[in-house]
Amino acid sequence: MIDYRRTYFGWSASSPAAHADPGSGLVVHYNGAATHLDDHAECVSYWKNTRDHHVSGRGWADIGYSFGVSVEGHVFEGRGLYRYQAAQGTTAGNASYYSVSLMIGDGERPTPAQIDGVRRLRAWLTAEHGVSGTVLGHRDFVSTSCPGSELYALVEDGTFTQAPGAPSGTGDEMLGLKVGDSGSRVTLLQQMLTYAGASLPEYGVDGVYGQETSDALLWVRRQMGSKATDGDKVTSYALAQLHAQLARHQSAAVG
Ligand SMILES: [Zn+2]
Repeated sequence: MIDYRRTYFGWSASSPAAHADPGSGLVVHYNGAATHLDDHAECVSYWKNTRDHHVSGRGWADIGYSFGVSVEGHVFEGRGLYRYQAAQGTTAGNASYYSVSLMIGDGERPTPAQIDGVRRLRAWLTAEHGVSGTVLGHRDFVSTSCPGSELYALVEDGTFTQAPGAPSGTGDEMLGLKVGDSGSRVTLLQQMLTYAGASLPEYGVDGVYGQETSDALLWVRRQMGSKATDGDKVTSYALAQLHAQLARHQSAAVG
């Protein structure tokens, strides 16, 4: 289920890195600095440049990561299956876990397609290659900002361990959120609101449920015909309307 193999990037079909069996799970990484990648061609250039940087700049045997997921949600092969890799920062981590780099950086949010790409990768690793379904972040191994607060919140709330095709977030964890709440569940709510077409013009995805988030939720509900007068709480109706509007908005964006 790798969408683009090594040969697509002009590399040897299999990595020169040492053999390993990283069966303990998958570790999420990001770029650090914002990447500003918009399309497939830019992601391909980014992936090639990353390998150049790792091989020529750091003297590694190959690109550090096992896999990458582009902003369009495609899974790119890095070192690939059954290879020791170089991203986790500890010898045991590099031998025991696969790594996946999402091609975004600070201040950038993963696209819904990108989240689903990680889920597809995980599902394939677990179903076809006996890998544990555990998903961790780079900072679970060493002291680092990687994979950034946005992605780490999604690691913690289980977004990446959902089945492919599931909405971004199960929804259940957002039920009951209300004005005044804060944290990673609010971050997820705000991400879904923006994916559904709502805007958070002043504060953005800041993990704080204030008036702006309330207004955005109300806007989403009204798109679905709700007669609600405020968006101060995530009721079960509000959640269903959010999922429906998100699906409608995303299909319109693709079409
Ligand atoms: Zn990392």
